[in-house]
Amino acid sequence: MRGSKKRSKTARDRQKIAPATESRKAMPISLSEMPLDILLLIFGWLGPRELLSLALTNRGFRSTLLADNAGPIWKAARIRSQEGPPNCPPDLSEARWAHLLFGDMKCDMRECECNSKFEVPVNFTLCRRVCKACMDKHLVADKKFKKTFPDYDKSILELIPSANAGDPRRFKKDKYKLYWDADIHHIAKQVRKYQEEIRSEKPGAEDALLSFKSARIAHAEYVFKHRHICLRWAEEQSRLRDAERQRLREEARLRIEARKNATLKRFEELGYDPRDLNYLYSDVLKVDAELTEDDWPDVRAALEPIIISRRTTRLERERQALLAKRRRVVEQVFKDYKYANPPLKWYTLPAPDELYEMPEFSVLINDPSANKLKQRNCTHAVEALPSFIAARIDNIRTALLGMLPPSLVVQTASADTDTRFDPLSLVAATFQCSATHWEDGHVLYALEHVLLHMSDSSRWNHPTGHPRVVQDALSFSQAGHDAVISLLASLGWDVHTTTPGELDKLDARFVCMQCPVQVDQSGREFRRALDWRQCVQHYTAFKHRGRHTMAEWMLLNEENIRLVKMHERWNLYDSILKCLHCDCLFQRLDHLKDAVAHVQQMHGIPKPEFNVDYFLPRSEQRSRSPITAFAMDLQEP
Ligand SMILES: [Zn+2]
Ligand SMILES: [Zn+2]
Ligand SMILES: [Zn+2]
Ligand SMILES: [Zn+2]
Ligand SMILES: [Zn+2]
Repeated sequence: MRGSKKRSKTARDRQKIAPATESRKAMPISLSEMPLDILLLIFGWLGPRELLSLALTNRGFRSTLLADNAGPIWKAARIRSQEGPPNCPPDLSEARWAHLLFGDMKCDMRECECNSKFEVPVNFTLCRRVCKACMDKHLVADKKFKKTFPDYDKSILELIPSANAGDPRRFKKDKYKLYWDADIHHIAKQVRKYQEEIRSEKPGAEDALLSFKSARIAHAEYVFKHRHICLRWAEEQSRLRDAERQRLREEARLRIEARKNATLKRFEELGYDPRDLNYLYSDVLKVDAELTEDDWPDVRAALEPIIISRRTTRLERERQALLAKRRRVVEQVFKDYKYANPPLKWYTLPAPDELYEMPEFSVLINDPSANKLKQRNCTHAVEALPSFIAARIDNIRTALLGMLPPSLVVQTASADTDTRFDPLSLVAATFQCSATHWEDGHVLYALEHVLLHMSDSSRWNHPTGHPRVVQDALSFSQAGHDAVISLLASLGWDVHTTTPGELDKLDARFVCMQCPVQVDQSGREFRRALDWRQCVQHYTAFKHRGRHTMAEWMLLNEENIRLVKMHERWNLYDSILKCLHCDCLFQRLDHLKDAVAHVQQMHGIPKPEFNVDYFLPRSEQRSRSPITAFAMDLQEP
């Protein structure tokens, strides 16, 4: 067992000592079995590091190399060394010096627990390689000497070197001199021995002590002076080691890089796109070894799924970008179609996203090729637009009709054929949209208003396609209907014949009789005057919040309406007025006069009418506000 242990240790150290291995291979007998004179000859060729390794190899070498008479072997090795190590202090053995300079960089202390990965520097006055923790444990400051060693004479400190100069960077700030505890014990013991000899009156004992002391002082002085050379040498060695490590790291990096490039090249040869090979991260790309045929299958198996998944993502991204571009072409084609139609018909057109699902356009957008869509390829689809739009309106009409209360449909349809009204043209055909818009709870009147609402592409909250909008978002507005019924009742108008346009034309003002009378700052009582659309919005909102349970209006008389209108201001600040005969736009209310003049001059229409056929706010909403206060006393004769 002992033998096998020894052999394994030998084998491990053999790797460290390359020249020894070579000589061993060439020889029939092992190095340790050689005669001493031949061994000494061989040692003469070795450097300090190799001697240190050999001394660790087995007991025989160790006793040979650490013997008192082995000094010349070490000295020769030191002098031959290319690294130019500093001279060995006279009091130290060459072997110990070699260990200090060339041994491993770990702390000398056996009880050391730091396991530091960093190199522990040599303290060249203490002639020790000791980590900071162990230093702190063992160093004693001269001012604490008496307290720490009451039995010793402090004068012995001049016989041993202090730690301060041995590591100036570390002890720069220390005011006191620091000594190694074992050095103190050791010197004290030796001095005591000499003193005992003096006491026992041994001849020449006093001289012996004196010469011992001067030798120790000389040693301390020597290491103090010598430290400069040693520290400079150690620094240079450390720099060289760093450079070497850096070089090795760089070489390893280049080897890894080369292997990575070779790996990626093989994937390219397999037909993969270089774009999918960028920025790959994997442990198999960090291996420091040449890529061999044996490695390749594992490397491929590790990377190929990642590359394939990247390719899939990239292709999907490219495909989506292509589809988005094609949709923009369709959007442009549709815009051209829209502008070729009279503006008063625009409300009948779908929003562009619905067109993407129209079969004729969908085929073009989703074409499996990578070709871009050209406008001229859309001719066929554009030809299909009128019938698609007509069918769409029919679908919406049918769905809306199904939502109306039977009374509205039946009574309207049962009227005389000549005066028969389309129930979806009636102001009482009120709808609401449940999709989230900035003007929540907006009431839509008749088919026209619903179509206008649905054609607005800015209502991105709508589901795509009119069947889903109609089914999921639109419903009959009972509150809106109730408000309209009671407004018509206050006017004495027929529910089954009145259209929104007729109410607009009348442009009357009402007050809500369900709201309490308000009082202004000067104590005057008033109610707010509303136009008919505001009445409907007001009631639906108040009904929704549970503040009104029924709609009740008072129609203002003509004089009051005239007075109210005098105080009204239009709230069209955010609207854009548009000429319905050409593409001219007029922004903001200030331009209302300009717009009227434009229509008169450019299109020869003497009395242009707002919103009916000449101007159209961009939003379908025709809003007036703030609502003018209607003073109660106006009502009195
Ligand atoms: Zn230590
Ligand atoms: Zn340590
Ligand atoms: Zn909506
Ligand atoms: Zn009210
Ligand atoms: Zn115009």
